[in-house]
Amino acid sequence: MTVRKLAGLIRRTGRVAEPPPPLPQAAQTPQALAGSVQLRHVDAGSCNGCEIEIAAAFGPVYDAERYGARLVASARHADALLVTGVVTQNMAEPLRRTLEATPTPRLVIAVGDCARNCGALAGGYGVAGAVSDIVDVDLEVPGCPPEPSEIVAALRRVTRR
Ligand code: SF4
Repeated sequence: MTVRKLAGLIRRTGRVAEPPPPLPQAAQTPQALAGSVQLRHVDAGSCNGCEIEIAAAFGPVYDAERYGARLVASARHADALLVTGVVTQNMAEPLRRTLEATPTPRLVIAVGDCARNCGALAGGYGVAGAVSDIVDVDLEVPGCPPEPSEIVAALRRVTRR
């Protein structure tokens, strides 16, 4: 097939994607964040399982960005923190400082069972606590690790898209 024919085929076919699943119930979060939310990911002591699922949530299959959620490189550019893992002793203060650096209105989303309640790592000698023991949490995503679709659903509750 020539390049010209291929370009014509692409033009005729257009964009093909499955329709989005139904909109989850909106979270009790600031209306100001509806439509678009910028997220700073903080690994507070994860095994990296949750990170793999977050990467999948932002990959081409689940494509969280199409619902208005985007990962950014600095808390100063973020509307919300996406926190994974138990909070280790060494990460408790950096987590507090990262939250302080995030402009208001802001949210904290605890992703995974470790972040919610210490999960499998509860009682570990290096564990300072769950995320809510260190900073206020607005939204939780259960699972060890959570499915990418559950992470996307939680983000849609914030963006309301
Ligand atoms: S919830 Fe599971 S996958 Fe996520 S950091 Fe904890 S042990 Fe790892």
